[in-house]
Amino acid sequence: AAKAAGRGRHRFYEPSMHSNAANRQMLENDLRGALERDELSVVYQPIVRAAGEEVAGFEALVRWQHSKRGLVSPTEFIPLAEECGMIGPLGEWVLVEALQALRSWPADQRLAVNLSPVQFNDPRLVDMVAAALAVSGVDPARLELEITEGVFLTDCDTTEATFTRLKELGVRLVLDDFGTGYSSLGYLKKAPFDKIKIDRSFVRGAGSDQSRNAAIIRAIVTLAENLGMDTVAEGVETDEELQLMRDLGVSEIQGFIFGHPVAIEEAIALAQGKVVTTDGSLFLRDPRQ
Ligand code: C2E
Ligand code: MG
Ligand code: MG
Ligand code: MG
Repeated sequence: AAKAAGRGRHRFYEPSMHSNAANRQMLENDLRGALERDELSVVYQPIVRAAGEEVAGFEALVRWQHSKRGLVSPTEFIPLAEECGMIGPLGEWVLVEALQALRSWPADQRLAVNLSPVQFNDPRLVDMVAAALAVSGVDPARLELEITEGVFLTDCDTTEATFTRLKELGVRLVLDDFGTGYSSLGYLKKAPFDKIKIDRSFVRGAGSDQSRNAAIIRAIVTLAENLGMDTVAEGVETDEELQLMRDLGVSEIQGFIFGHPVAIEEAIALAQGKVVTTDGSLFLRDPRQ
């Protein structure tokens, strides 16, 4: 097999590669017990209306506090969870936890939760979401499920049916990280999305001389409007980017300019407009000022 791998085979013997593989294996083992050891938590990042800067809702983002390594990024452990069959229980736990949190926020605010494409392989997904909604008792219309284009890569017949059934629960569907994957416009036909989340790679530096990014965002907004969908821009950090998103007609803004992901207690304060600023790690503009 090593021979068949040809020129690439030396990579198997790189010490760093080897330790990476070993490292992954160790992390994966640790992840299996993370839920039981209570090492996972959910943080919430505000999503703000572009026009009035009121809080429209929050995105739930999972965190893993590893006993020895400290905070491990979800970009590192979500792929591991997807590989080792942990994403189902992990995703369910995040959803239940976040729906519980949503009960403490004003009723006009929403909650966005990420679903992994791998969760779509589980025929129990829709029932799981329905059960989580029933237990929480919240209006399904307040729940947004964020899904990346990756869900269409393993396009089985059931994917479209799953979207239809999720929609029938009354939840809202959001196409996450739009523009980064294969961005086939056909995807917009395959599922009844309510909102497109513009990836931060288009937002970043969109105001400098990156007129191409601005043109792309403008096109996405026009497309979304014509299809009756909302738009949200992620990763907005500067005033310049914020102004540009407004000028381009993006309906909602998410990014460090309005707030980092924070623990539930701080999120509740933000939801009620109580916290304006703390040490700079938490900051929300007060629309009444
Ligand atoms: P995502 O769903 O696109 O989430 C947005 C990411 O952008 C978050 O990173 C957030 O902290 C970060 N972000 C928000 N505003 C800014 C900004 O202004 N500047 C910069 N540089 N970053 C910003 P995070 O929390 O590290 O999550 C990374 C990814 O991990 C998520 O991307 C999502 O794909 C995945 N993820 C996180 N939580 C979950 C989960 O509960 N389930 C699943 N399936 N995936 C999750
Ligand atoms: Mg997301
Ligand atoms: Mg995203
Ligand atoms: Mg992203």
